Amino acid sequence: VIELGTPERSVVTTCAYCGVGCSFKAELNGDELVRMVPYKHGKANRGHSCVKGRFAYGYATHKDRILNPMIRDSIDQPWQEVSWDEALSFAANRLRGLQEKHGRKSIGVITSSRCTNEETFLVQKLTRAVFGNNNTDTCARVCHSPTGYGLGQTFGTSAGTQDFDSVEHTDVVIVIGANPTDGHPVFASRLKKRLRAGAKLIVIDPRRINLVKSAHIEASHHLQLRPGTNVAVVTALAHVIVTEGLFDEDYIRDRCDWDEFLTYADFVRDPRHSPETSEGLTGVPAEELRKAARLFATGGNGAIYYGLGVTEHSQGSTTVMGIANLAMLTGNVGRKGVGVNPLRGQNNVQGSCDMGSFPHELPGYRHVKNGDVRAIFQDIWGVEIDAEPGLRIPNMLDAAVDGSFKGLYCQGEDILQSDPDTKHVAAGLAAMECVIVHDLFLNETANYAHVFLPGSTFLEKDGTFTNAERRINRVRKVMAPRNGYSDWEITQMLANAMGAGWTYSHPSEIMAEIAATTPSFAGVTYDLLEEKGSVQWPCNEASPDGTPLMHVDGFVRGKGRFIVTEYVATDEKSGPRFPLLLTTGRILSQYNVGAQTRRTDNVIWHDQDLLEIHPHDAENRGLKEGDWVKLASRSGETTLRAHLTDRVSPGVVYTTFHHPDTQANVITTDFSDWATNCPEYKVTAVQVSLSNGP
Ligand code: SF4
Repeated sequence: VIELGTPERSVVTTCAYCGVGCSFKAELNGDELVRMVPYKHGKANRGHSCVKGRFAYGYATHKDRILNPMIRDSIDQPWQEVSWDEALSFAANRLRGLQEKHGRKSIGVITSSRCTNEETFLVQKLTRAVFGNNNTDTCARVCHSPTGYGLGQTFGTSAGTQDFDSVEHTDVVIVIGANPTDGHPVFASRLKKRLRAGAKLIVIDPRRINLVKSAHIEASHHLQLRPGTNVAVVTALAHVIVTEGLFDEDYIRDRCDWDEFLTYADFVRDPRHSPETSEGLTGVPAEELRKAARLFATGGNGAIYYGLGVTEHSQGSTTVMGIANLAMLTGNVGRKGVGVNPLRGQNNVQGSCDMGSFPHELPGYRHVKNGDVRAIFQDIWGVEIDAEPGLRIPNMLDAAVDGSFKGLYCQGEDILQSDPDTKHVAAGLAAMECVIVHDLFLNETANYAHVFLPGSTFLEKDGTFTNAERRINRVRKVMAPRNGYSDWEITQMLANAMGAGWTYSHPSEIMAEIAATTPSFAGVTYDLLEEKGSVQWPCNEASPDGTPLMHVDGFVRGKGRFIVTEYVATDEKSGPRFPLLLTTGRILSQYNVGAQTRRTDNVIWHDQDLLEIHPHDAENRGLKEGDWVKLASRSGETTLRAHLTDRVSPGVVYTTFHHPDTQANVITTDFSDWATNCPEYKVTAVQVSLSNGP
């Protein structure tokens, strides 16, 4: 027991790791943060937390933090510390110079789902109102952009349909392509409590995740599919439900487009979608799949939770639509205990997408081509907004290699480490003439930067995050920014260095602008958040207290839309040279590329990424537990230690991507989702062989 004494003061704020959005009391003595205590009134966590939120905050005061701006003429020169004024005018002059020489569309922005809503709103405003283009994208591109497309097409809006409380009313749960016990631990605890009370569980995952069997919990069915076959499995489930007459006809007639349902039903009824036909492709035993489909259709309230194992595929958007079809087919949208729930990986993926950080959408998911919507922003901003969608992250990198994209402001995102096909990302960055990295640490992307703007942590800023249940939580400044400014102030200073004349003095003023321009946030104010603790959007005149459940009386788009989900095999195929399929994920104590968690003493016990390999595949290669192995794909190769386990099937290997030494994304390919360009991180054909180590 460590005696910390009674803290002098405390500040309630929101965890900056995953999309659960747990509330914490940050307790301080003087300016020193002594502990993070889970906040019992936090509506997302109700006094619970995981190891990351509770202990992994030491990165805020880590010696690696860069606290002063730096510039350099070219990337082969050493960094030079300068004043904020000098750094910002250097950056502004370079960006303006590039636009004068190469056109206003030659520069753009990548922002992060780690940033607050207010910061994200300002960054897309910077792009649209100051740069004069729509070249703004977010790291949600590489995680949940297919959720945006898929749920937008089927239900009419890109958001989870339920609140977390809803899980307490569910009877049968599908968890597909998600590992909540590691990725969303506090939600997983609530789910496990419900499972212990008798709810049934169907897990669809290539790997035997902990939920399949752990203390007092055992899934009724684990459909251990081959990586890349989600669409075929989901369609086979629908085939059983339709051909055995288990669909909810009354619900569909009342709530959905009946003609589109008939087209969809004809499609899934085809014998080529039967579990027996698809078994050879998916690897899922037909009888197991039939039983799972019957359980979901007849087991009472059915809820579906999914993660990046759904979205990060060449058919990520198709699977999201297939999941939405499955929910509508069984009448499982629009009341407590049911629904479609994307488990957002980062703290503010939902908010980042809500705030218009995609190149085709203004805040509130409204297309930039819509003149009426542009007019709302133009009236307030006093500038014309380009009607043409801008470039997505991969398009920016392609255009940089081709020579037409020259400058990038990259806020809170280490694209060199986290985006796929590292060599291509490096080539794109190297070809640019002005790369501005705005971050806490000198990350891998900063190797290619000309300007480094030191960022602030979540402890050093005011704002809001929106969690996976659309809950807008307050982020409160716990300590003064060690770098001198909160991130929203830095973006404002850059905009003003380029001539904008912005005068925000507090993020509440930015929220007022969000509310004035974005219908789903129309009723959100900082006063309301103080009064209620948090609210779930839509929060407006029609729902002044927010909206825990969506699509209750009807879908946002009107009638729910069934969409035919044809399976198309990924171009990434295993073969004699690369016979295994690699998939990736994360562990409880680490977070994404580890920039924060690796700089926190509490988690040093997990010091490397491991390659999980089935004992048969290991034996065939003469590998033993702990051996160094070379992991090679068509894109590149890396070295890591082997962990022999039957959690993965023969033919499948698995690793995490938390450590820069591993560089897991040297391996991944540039294949991506057909609709959104979300990279296909979850399927890479690889070979594994014994190695002498790095
Ligand atoms: Fe933070 Fe997520 Fe853990 Fe909650 S579950 S403490 S939001 S990392």
